[in-house]
Amino acid sequence: MQVEIAGLAGYCFGVKRALRITETTLKKYKDKKVYSIGQIIHNRGVIEDLKAKGLILVENEEQIEPGSVFIVRSHGMSPDFIKKIKAKDVKIVDTACPFVKRAQSKAKMLSGRGYHLVIIGNSKHPEVLSEMEHADKGNLTIIETPAELGTLKKQKKIGVIMQTTQIKENAKAIIAGLLDKADEILIANTICVITQNRQEVTRELAKTVDAMFIVGGKNSANTTHLAQISSQYCKNTYHIESYKEIKKSWLEHSIKAGVSGGASTPKDDIKDVKEFLEKL
Ligand code: SF4
Repeated sequence: MQVEIAGLAGYCFGVKRALRITETTLKKYKDKKVYSIGQIIHNRGVIEDLKAKGLILVENEEQIEPGSVFIVRSHGMSPDFIKKIKAKDVKIVDTACPFVKRAQSKAKMLSGRGYHLVIIGNSKHPEVLSEMEHADKGNLTIIETPAELGTLKKQKKIGVIMQTTQIKENAKAIIAGLLDKADEILIANTICVITQNRQEVTRELAKTVDAMFIVGGKNSANTTHLAQISSQYCKNTYHIESYKEIKKSWLEHSIKAGVSGGASTPKDDIKDVKEFLEKL
């Protein structure tokens, strides 16, 4: 099998930064408990490795002991939550990606100026939840697809931000629909440039191969979006977490395969997929 890897595959700068800060914190505070809520990045293997190095994953604030250390995940967290644990004398180490922080600050700014905030994204994703926590929760709507526009009533003025990993075409379709919902619309394009570039190289590669493998966490929004984009151009697209999931039957009549990976996918996972495919 001929195999080509999409450019830019491997950790993005935000994930590299979050991992570097987490590893340094675990070494520095070896004698203290170091907690996090949820996955610091969306990759199971990496999280297991961090747990083996001492990271404790908890579900809620009550489980965090006073005098400990708390790592804010790359997707950001609620300011109220951080305030509460700070009051317990917990040291905060923030790994939130600067692009996520930018989206949070735009949410705060638009909300503060009285705009009805529309967040284009997945209402269950931790990043969107953290952005929501920076705004007036009583005056916002989360929209994931154009089909959901019907849930939004007409507003005086609308401010828009986007989950950093949004597919640009989806955001454009929602924004077009918002034109009927308010006379004044202020849009902050908060899609991360790294995400946009990865989507572009994945799209271009998908056009030229018989099968595409998108490697990364099934719970990773940016990886899932890459798989959605790829499947528009290559019907034979598979979202996998490891080369072990690949079935030979998927590649009958295929000569060339493409491999791309999400922002939280280690380069080694992508290399393993390439090497496995090359042996077929
Ligand atoms: S994909 Fe973009 S927003 Fe997400 S962590 Fe990486 S750099 Fe930050």
